[in-house]
Amino acid sequence: MAKLDNKMNLDSLNEQQREAVLATEGPILIIAGAGSGKTRVLTHRIALLLEKGTDPHEILALTFTKKAAGEMRERIRAMVGKQASGLVMGTFHSVFVRFLREYHAYINFPDNFTIFDADDAENCLKTCIMEVLFGSSWNNKEETRNLSEDQKKERKRLLQVYKTKEIASRISILKNEYIVPNNYISDPSLQQQDKKKGYVQLGAIYEMYMKRCKRANAMDFDDILVYIYYLLDRHVEVAKTIARRFRYILVDEYQDTNTIQYDIIRTLSLGHGNICAVGDDSQSIYAFRGAKIDNILNFRRDYPSFRSFKLETNYRSTPEIVDAANRLIEKNDRRIPKVCTAYRKAGLPIDIKYLKNDREEARFIANLIRLRHNAGDCEYSDNAVLYRTNAQARAIEEAMLQAHIPYVIYSGLSFYERQEIKDVLAYIRLVVNRDDDEAFKRICNRPSRGISDATLAALMAAAAKDGRSIFATALEVQETLPQLKPTAVNAVDRFVKEINELAMETKPLDAYEAVKIMLEKSGLYEYYSKEKDDDGRKRTNNINELVNGVLYYVKDQRSGNTDDLPDESLPAYLENIALLSAVDQHADGNDDRVALMTSHCSKGLEFPTVFIAGCEEGLYPSLRTDSGQAQLEEERRLFYVSVTRAMNELILTCCGQRWQYGETSECEPSRFIDEMFPEEKQDN
Ligand code: ATP
Ligand code: MG
Repeated sequence: MAKLDNKMNLDSLNEQQREAVLATEGPILIIAGAGSGKTRVLTHRIALLLEKGTDPHEILALTFTKKAAGEMRERIRAMVGKQASGLVMGTFHSVFVRFLREYHAYINFPDNFTIFDADDAENCLKTCIMEVLFGSSWNNKEETRNLSEDQKKERKRLLQVYKTKEIASRISILKNEYIVPNNYISDPSLQQQDKKKGYVQLGAIYEMYMKRCKRANAMDFDDILVYIYYLLDRHVEVAKTIARRFRYILVDEYQDTNTIQYDIIRTLSLGHGNICAVGDDSQSIYAFRGAKIDNILNFRRDYPSFRSFKLETNYRSTPEIVDAANRLIEKNDRRIPKVCTAYRKAGLPIDIKYLKNDREEARFIANLIRLRHNAGDCEYSDNAVLYRTNAQARAIEEAMLQAHIPYVIYSGLSFYERQEIKDVLAYIRLVVNRDDDEAFKRICNRPSRGISDATLAALMAAAAKDGRSIFATALEVQETLPQLKPTAVNAVDRFVKEINELAMETKPLDAYEAVKIMLEKSGLYEYYSKEKDDDGRKRTNNINELVNGVLYYVKDQRSGNTDDLPDESLPAYLENIALLSAVDQHADGNDDRVALMTSHCSKGLEFPTVFIAGCEEGLYPSLRTDSGQAQLEEERRLFYVSVTRAMNELILTCCGQRWQYGETSECEPSRFIDEMFPEEKQDN
């Protein structure tokens, strides 16, 4: 045990934490307040299991972001050394997608399926909505022109009802409850609410969307969970094999698991019962994605022999911050009562600043950081600015630019959402999976190859009719679409040939070599480098940055430090990119930059100084007139998450006026300020 103590340093834990770490067997549930060391307990438990001789491949740890998994792996490595490489760690999606590849035949997919990002998924869904509502030739320009005025009006009306984003989030919730199209269509009670909203055709759209993704040999994010659930549920022998691989399962941020994730963990852990879930019901902030606090109650039901441990000391924040957070969250009726006392000594009072408007607010934040940095009082990366909505980032970003402060935005238009980057990724996707229709649509004419919109529309309609992918249709373009002009046929022929050749040529190469060849031979690099204006230069730079990223990826894989299954191939790189969350996309670690992010993004993180911008009624809490108590409580939990990210200093800013939705509106301070400081009369 002495050796254990040395390496593991169990002394760095308090009594409660140590007990939780040492109880390695059986079901364990730790529901405790922010900053109380839940993640630290998980890390130490894993290190202890390894010290005791558990094979790292038998330990599965599920985290909320890849970055969190990476950090955890680093800490464990520091304690126990290179064994940490064999651990199976990551987000639900990144861990389980591997099993889908391994058992792809059971779910009736080829193993090279690709993953749609939110944008592709929406485009694909949009096509399905249009086809269900208006038939497969909906994008035939001539037919559309010939519609009667009434027909045109009706189309417009329907398009206002069937908003793609809303349908997408409804389908997402259905998937996360494991309600597949068949269940939905055969259960009128499920359709009731949707029909009231006018979504009469939702079942048909949902069904077509699932089929269309399948035909494209692609999955959206939610599908990864749907298919894993299906695999485990329908193929008991596979479920048993996968379950036998893991003797220990650990889940961080347990409060944000949804129904389907819960069921997956249950299936994998019921045999041995060695599951450790840590979370904080007060930090459950993803109800809109189907997260269920009830899963904490379900845990107690499904693992009746469970033990729970209390963690009641907050090590992260000063008493000022901990007490304010406690006062705030006590206002929620629906919560598990718990004690959370600050370990640290008294620090700075929480600062509340009232500014004239959002521009002044942004300037105030930037100037303060500038001043402190110049005085040598802080690094830029000590500071985080949190906000409720992405739209708030713009003013703050501008102020940072003006003050010459380096910053990084962890949401909004991220690097991988830029046009040129999406183009490169679409080439990779099409080369890996020829049936990926969204990739085909995106790049068949970039750079220009003489494939017009009309030709693409004809290919899409023929593909829809024959139930094949666009690429499969394009391979036989001459026979399938004899009405096309020879120049169009030739252009399509050349394109499919080019993609097939690229696929052959890049197959034996690592991702870096493959991407370089692809950029050169497709003409995409030249296409962008010809643009000589500022935008063009930025685009070429971005592509170079991407290529650099691929090189790092390959080097990382070779170092053997990253993962239990290093893989430097193009498909592996693609998967790595597809499953990055907003936080992961900027996980370059050592940069000294101010972090700008939404509160949702900030989960699990900590910063010496935290600004919460826009503490105003209507914005934070962001409530609509029809929002009820449950919604207000979720907003309060989100604010609680934001407050508890701060280690030393919390600064709340609040504007008298804010530019929103194209107009200036008057603002009242957030009720959350009053709730945290009831004794202070806020006179603005
Ligand atoms: P959250 O709810 O925000 O996810 P958490 O409960 O997971 O928080 P951790 O991130 O594990 O908390 O710990 C919060 C901070 O407190 C970290 O910086 C961690 O290193 C530190 N910490 C935790 N336990 C101890 C301890 N016993 N001694 C010293 N520092 C500790
Ligand atoms: Mg944590």
